[in-house]
Amino acid sequence: MSSSFSSDSGYAADDLKARDAAIERGLDFVYRFSKKRECFANYGSFLICCFALVAATSRNPRLRRLGRDRARQLLRRWSRLHRLLPADASSDLLFDFILVHYAQSRLGFHDPAGVSAIRLAAHKFPASDLLDFDPGKEPPPEDLPYLCDCSFQNPRGRKACKQCKRRLRMRSRYRVWMEALANTYVAEKSGVLFGSRYADVLKWAPFMRPYPTAAEEDEEVVRDAIYAVTHIVYTLNNYGTYKLSPRWLRHEFAYLKANVESACTQRDPELLGELLDSLKALGLTARHPLIQRGTRYLLDEQNGDGSWGDIEEENLRTRCHTTWTAIDGLRTCAWRGQRLSFADLKSSWKKWAR
Ligand SMILES: [Zn+2]
Repeated sequence: MSSSFSSDSGYAADDLKARDAAIERGLDFVYRFSKKRECFANYGSFLICCFALVAATSRNPRLRRLGRDRARQLLRRWSRLHRLLPADASSDLLFDFILVHYAQSRLGFHDPAGVSAIRLAAHKFPASDLLDFDPGKEPPPEDLPYLCDCSFQNPRGRKACKQCKRRLRMRSRYRVWMEALANTYVAEKSGVLFGSRYADVLKWAPFMRPYPTAAEEDEEVVRDAIYAVTHIVYTLNNYGTYKLSPRWLRHEFAYLKANVESACTQRDPELLGELLDSLKALGLTARHPLIQRGTRYLLDEQNGDGSWGDIEEENLRTRCHTTWTAIDGLRTCAWRGQRLSFADLKSSWKKWAR
């Protein structure tokens, strides 16, 4: 290994080069994907966010430029497709607008008229429509079924499909919590109340601990719990903007560290990308054995087309999301100090972090 380490990233110069090349190939994959009309129509808002965050948080200036150029290009396409938020917008379209607005703000563009329209539309929906539960009244529930294979969405509490009678798979409470954390956070950062305040979702942290291990729970629940914890990190650090002290997230830090090795042995680049990204936010450097182990794994497992994950996967959003998280696991962020995304959360989080 070369002895010349690049200042604070802690990567040897050659490793850094290999890593940056892998990241660019990954971003090219996501970009090619966005060119397909159907993909952009379905996932445009999510792809805009991917490039906007690369632009806003990367330490490498070349990646910042690349992210910015592509995010702006996709934003132009988005605004041609969606001029205004219709008054009768569905909750999905509403959230697309929120994501796009968040991405714009990360690029430094502000659109007060757009936010007012989003705020008005969001106001029409109760928490139970946007988040599937009301965090002001109850913790994340365990009785929310996934969409049935027959594509019928069953109401809360059903165990068998109303339409085809098949047994339903349930979303774990960690998955429900993770989605609510991310959605209320991105909305609130954009000045929109999305069914509930972010703090009302976050406050359930003590109730969700101890986080489950593979010895106690099935694999899917553990995976959802890890994602919930990475989303505590992302929402507390404004998606790659601030460093967090591991002392502030004692339980979460230990849980994330404990799951790196199994993400490698289970060949799960999506989970691993989020784990590395979060652990770096919590202060682990490139020289830490877990970051080295995970980085090596991601570099070795990149597909020929620049993506990560199963190339046979039919869900295109998953294909893209896996690649996005692997990119973020490899990327070095330009931290803007150590603090929480919402300064006024400090005293509450101290209580919930215990
Ligand atoms: Zn069904």
